[in-house]
Amino acid sequence: MSQPGKSINDNFMAMVTAKAQVTLPLGEFQPKSTLVTAEHHLERARFPVIDYHNHLDALDPVEVLRIMDACGIERIVNITMKTGDEAIAIMGKFHSADAERFATIGWMDWSGLERDDFVEVTLDRLERLVEHGAKGIKFWKDLGLSVRDREGNLLRVDDERLAPVFDKAAELGIPVMFHIADPDAFFLPIDGNNERYEELAAHPDWGFYGAHFSKRELLDQRDRVIARHPKTTFVAAHVAECGENLGRARQLLEKYPNVMLDISARVSELGRQPYSSRALFLDFPDRILFGSDLVPEESMYRLYFRFLETADEYFDYPSHASRQGRWQIHGIHLPEDILRKLYRENALRLLN
Ligand SMILES: [Zn+2]
Repeated sequence: MSQPGKSINDNFMAMVTAKAQVTLPLGEFQPKSTLVTAEHHLERARFPVIDYHNHLDALDPVEVLRIMDACGIERIVNITMKTGDEAIAIMGKFHSADAERFATIGWMDWSGLERDDFVEVTLDRLERLVEHGAKGIKFWKDLGLSVRDREGNLLRVDDERLAPVFDKAAELGIPVMFHIADPDAFFLPIDGNNERYEELAAHPDWGFYGAHFSKRELLDQRDRVIARHPKTTFVAAHVAECGENLGRARQLLEKYPNVMLDISARVSELGRQPYSSRALFLDFPDRILFGSDLVPEESMYRLYFRFLETADEYFDYPSHASRQGRWQIHGIHLPEDILRKLYRENALRLLN
């Protein structure tokens, strides 16, 4: 109905103005939940914890130990991102600070890839890392996405030329950690349908959409390597990069007894599908490792404990400064026998 004394046009303009007032820039939309539910803020984990996936290179071991003590973290595995002598020096820094509470996983060194004897050089490098105490070797997502061979071709994850390296890991008794590919959203257009839009808009270089990469193909390549090397133990980081599709993670675990996965940097995914997550932990108690992949802080570890140990609902997930997506998580209240394995015992099998 028109208001008395106003033209139809005036009324239309009033409607448009009202609409403008509810249009907010996305970054200014920061809703606060009004839910009132039980909250349990755990200072320390229920059992001693081994953080199997972290990156400490630049940090002061004394400060990290203080945080570990405050939260009940028994040991952290530092996946050094250095190679060669620098990696050995980093190992020295942490192992001399406390050999019981720090362990190291080495980083695959691609330097010299153009050499004819690259594989032999790599086997020697692995031996040297293990002599200095390394407990594993990590292959990062640059394999499959950016490492190129002498001819300029992308090196496939399942390139047969790398086979001796995976066999060597088995011979040395160390696991191979794989972080292949990235979250699904990073392979999708950065637009209003992308559930990680804000994160990707802030870091557009994290996106692979439009390039020729297929995430499915990259994971299939990884799985072929796992299949070909049954004597080698593999740790598929970040819920095997299947945090958005736990059915696929489950298939991987069912099919290949030589693979484990870590939960690092994926509580955001696990916690928004609490029923499926809980079932995964209960069905594979010996195959899942605790890892954070976030700078050690009390508040970060405590969110992990809250997710794993409580039935709290709808709370923040642990994350870097840039959050992954606009959702909240729910605790999965794991039983004690599962927690003991997840927190510590599964990792001990790989470290000893
Ligand atoms: Zn990592």
